[in-house]
Amino acid sequence: MSQITANAPHNDRAFSETVLEWYHQHGRKHLPWQQDISPYRVWVSEIMLQQTQVATVIPYYQRFMERFPTVQALAAAEQDEVLHLWTGLGYYARGRNLHKCAQTVVDQHGGEFPRSVEQLAELPGIGRSTAGAIASISMGVRAAILDGNVKRVLTRFYAIEGWPGTTAVQNAMWDIAERLTPEHSHREYTQAMMDMGATLCTRSKPACGICPLQPGCAGYASGKPTQYPNSKPKKEKPEKHAWLLMIRNPDGEFLLQQRPQTGIWGGLWSFPEADSLANAEQQLAASYGDRVKQIQELSSFRHTFSHYHLHIHPVEVELDRLTDHIGEQTVHWYNPRQPSELGLAAPVIKLLQNQL
Ligand code: SF4
Repeated sequence: MSQITANAPHNDRAFSETVLEWYHQHGRKHLPWQQDISPYRVWVSEIMLQQTQVATVIPYYQRFMERFPTVQALAAAEQDEVLHLWTGLGYYARGRNLHKCAQTVVDQHGGEFPRSVEQLAELPGIGRSTAGAIASISMGVRAAILDGNVKRVLTRFYAIEGWPGTTAVQNAMWDIAERLTPEHSHREYTQAMMDMGATLCTRSKPACGICPLQPGCAGYASGKPTQYPNSKPKKEKPEKHAWLLMIRNPDGEFLLQQRPQTGIWGGLWSFPEADSLANAEQQLAASYGDRVKQIQELSSFRHTFSHYHLHIHPVEVELDRLTDHIGEQTVHWYNPRQPSELGLAAPVIKLLQNQL
């Protein structure tokens, strides 16, 4: 086996050969997106895997591929259907961009993904690392990647100080990643680096004892590999509050509105919202007057986004007659017992399920 030597200048070739040897013996080769490899299939998997574990992604990926087997099928779909299949995966901008990107590939590239990393990275929702993954895995192009798994391996192996979110650290890591990428076996090397990060050099319990990179790993030598990558300087997340109006008609259906495309839960369907109970009551009186039979505030719960905590205060509202509009906006009456195919935010699903 190739050896990485501790305390010697790291040999880039030895690094990639070691990683490739490990991959041939231990890497994952049976994931759904590793079968019938195509740019489309790899691209969908890469987008789904951003911020999400493999085990969670697999059933979503399979349902998605069954419904949208080609980029043309995805481009022709309604956004609501795409977001419906995305419901539960979170980070919905990914789902919206996926749809937009499919339309761009069909309209501007004749249904074929471009072969250069630069052109791929210009498509909606595809950054430099995802472009590198698509190009190397599905087209066999020499291209570096720098996703969360690879960042972890590299920052530990080289004991890179500083938060990887800063441009300086980011640039230094890209230089290293480019340099280490071998001249051959591009698909396998990309997959190998992802697998090392996901299965060996894991976030909290790296398996250094069985890691082939251990002899040259500066993070291991430091005795505290998990201090890399350095964490983001701490900033308290702000706390926000929202009152969600669960307006129910006499048929047991709930009124949902589609949210604007930008902002949290963009494009998904949710309950009407107010910023206080008093404003919620005012809003209800203005919209429904004496049709409101009963208002009851339920126990609140906290939902955490990447940049703030949201305290959700559900308010049950009973209407004694049907209505089709709230202000100017068209609404959807949602029956939890016969659910429509809409993209719903996770807390909305939870609240609706509690009604069953
Ligand atoms: S030796 Fe440990 S810290 Fe270093 S790359 Fe391997 S698993 Fe990661």
